[in-house]
Amino acid sequence: MSSMLPNVLSSSNDNWVADEIPKSNEVYVTKRGAKLNLEEIGPKPTKKVALICCMDARIDAFSAFGFKEGESHIIRNGGGRASDSIRSLVISQQQLGTNEIIIMHHTDCGFFTFKEDEFRKNLKSKGFSGPDVDLMSFMPMSSSDINENIKQDVNYLKNHPLIKKESKISGWVNDLKDGSVRRVV
Ligand SMILES: [Zn+2]
Repeated sequence: MSSMLPNVLSSSNDNWVADEIPKSNEVYVTKRGAKLNLEEIGPKPTKKVALICCMDARIDAFSAFGFKEGESHIIRNGGGRASDSIRSLVISQQQLGTNEIIIMHHTDCGFFTFKEDEFRKNLKSKGFSGPDVDLMSFMPMSSSDINENIKQDVNYLKNHPLIKKESKISGWVNDLKDGSVRRVV
């Protein structure tokens, strides 16, 4: 019977990761046990810190950087770029009381693997069009030197008109091989 099904139905495209969520979540809820007391732990991070890191699937941000629920904002985006985090950071600082920012880039980041102009051409060749294709920055790393990119991102935040002048801002590298971190700025 299954051999009669068209190919498209037997392709892996039919399996949605979303379908696995309820089961995985059930395990998580049981393991977690105690309910979070929302009166004790509010939306303001208790460590008053926002950490920016890449969306890279190999980073378990809370565990790797030693935070528990309620302690830190973790703002993730492609590359862990400062400029892509501004909207969240401003709310984090102004509405939710953070005053320290940690920029965490990592080794082997996918944002070292493409150039902006090549990527735009690639999008156009796939039929994408419109102002975003020409104007949106996809933020590949501007330098092959990871330290340089981190310094740029830290400076960007230090000079941004919407970031608190008194913010404590540091820049770090996370080595994916062994999970270790080192401070650059
Ligand atoms: Zn990355």
